[in-house]
Amino acid sequence: MSFVRLAARPVLANARRYSTAPASAPKSNLPLFLAGGGVVAVAGYFYLNGSSQPAALAKPKISDKSALDPQNFVDFKLKAVEPYNHNTAKFVFELPPDTATLLPVAACVVVKSSADSPKPLLDGKGKPVIRPYTPISPSDHPGELTFLVKKYDTGVMSKYFFDLKPGESLSVKGPISKIPVKANQFEQVGMIAGGSGITPMYQILDHVLQDPENKTKFTLIFANVAERDIIMKQDFDTLQKKYPSTLNVVYTLDKPEADWKGETGYVNADMITKHLPSAKLGEKTKIFVCGPPGQVAALAGKKDGMKQGELAGTLKELGYSSDQVFKF
Ligand SMILES: Cc1cc2nc3c(=O)[nH]c(=O)nc-3n(C[C@H](O)[C@H](O)[C@H](O)COP(=O)(O)OP(=O)(O)OC[C@H]3O[C@@H](n4cnc5c(N)ncnc54)[C@H](O)[C@@H]3O)c2cc1C
Repeated sequence: MSFVRLAARPVLANARRYSTAPASAPKSNLPLFLAGGGVVAVAGYFYLNGSSQPAALAKPKISDKSALDPQNFVDFKLKAVEPYNHNTAKFVFELPPDTATLLPVAACVVVKSSADSPKPLLDGKGKPVIRPYTPISPSDHPGELTFLVKKYDTGVMSKYFFDLKPGESLSVKGPISKIPVKANQFEQVGMIAGGSGITPMYQILDHVLQDPENKTKFTLIFANVAERDIIMKQDFDTLQKKYPSTLNVVYTLDKPEADWKGETGYVNADMITKHLPSAKLGEKTKIFVCGPPGQVAALAGKKDGMKQGELAGTLKELGYSSDQVFKF
């Protein structure tokens, strides 16, 4: 990230809505920022807005109009695919101008193939395959909706994403509210994520940590097969540097290289005891879990469709109650 881009980050960060901010809070601190900032900051603002025109000053790029419908699927055209790593890519969809997803935190969307698709994605009973995804684009970013999707060899929807061509559509419905999360709701929050289960955690952290009032301490255990599978690492490194007293990220790998310095193996009781807040904190703590079905079942018990399902597995054995655990 260039210096100019770094200088510009606060503009966007402050433009987002904080969970503790009053509803009438201005959506941008741009005028204040520019009053106190220098040439570099101004240059950074233009850089992020992709414009060298001072006209960009008048319109910070945020939107308060939603492109989504919580009751109905809406088609959005794929604009671009940006390869991310060996099995993950960013899929950028086009939203109508001046609209955004406006997803609350934490919430996701569900997707299915478009009704117009020449190759509809159906299950064995002829019903549409539907899967949840958490966009990584900021909720108030107008005109675009970006997913970071990991392709599973035996996967249905993830493969469908990778077969989509720019100009083709995907049907999206939302927001699907998961659990409202805001700053200072808990003293400490523990997070366990596996693979692409990281995106809901990023949504929460990106939102809460930038709230200047936040004192909640977050610890994330992020499990992957190998180092090359860790997605969004740069984003977490940036967050960790920026919020060293409220965020700690611990990585664990099934198949680490010899020089790996993080944890090794599946997430287990020792790792949870060592890094995550204790169950003894009662209602002052919450543990969020999102990962492959096998991982969620082993750590917290199977989900029951959209419902939480009974708490079981390692977290139960360590004394956490069902009120303290949320499965995405
Ligand atoms: C709240 C929420 C948000 C999500 N956000 C994202 C996101 O932003 N990006 C993304 O890529 N995925 C995300 N997922 C996972 C996504 O919904 C799908 O489960 C995943 O893409 C696999 O779907 P599939 O149809 O390709 O695989 P399926 O046909 O459902 O399953 C095929 C194989 O993949 C395994 N599998 C299924 N789900 C997962 C998983 N989550 N992790 C590892 N293995 C799995 C199954 O065990 C099975 O072996 C999210 C899940 C939840 C619950």
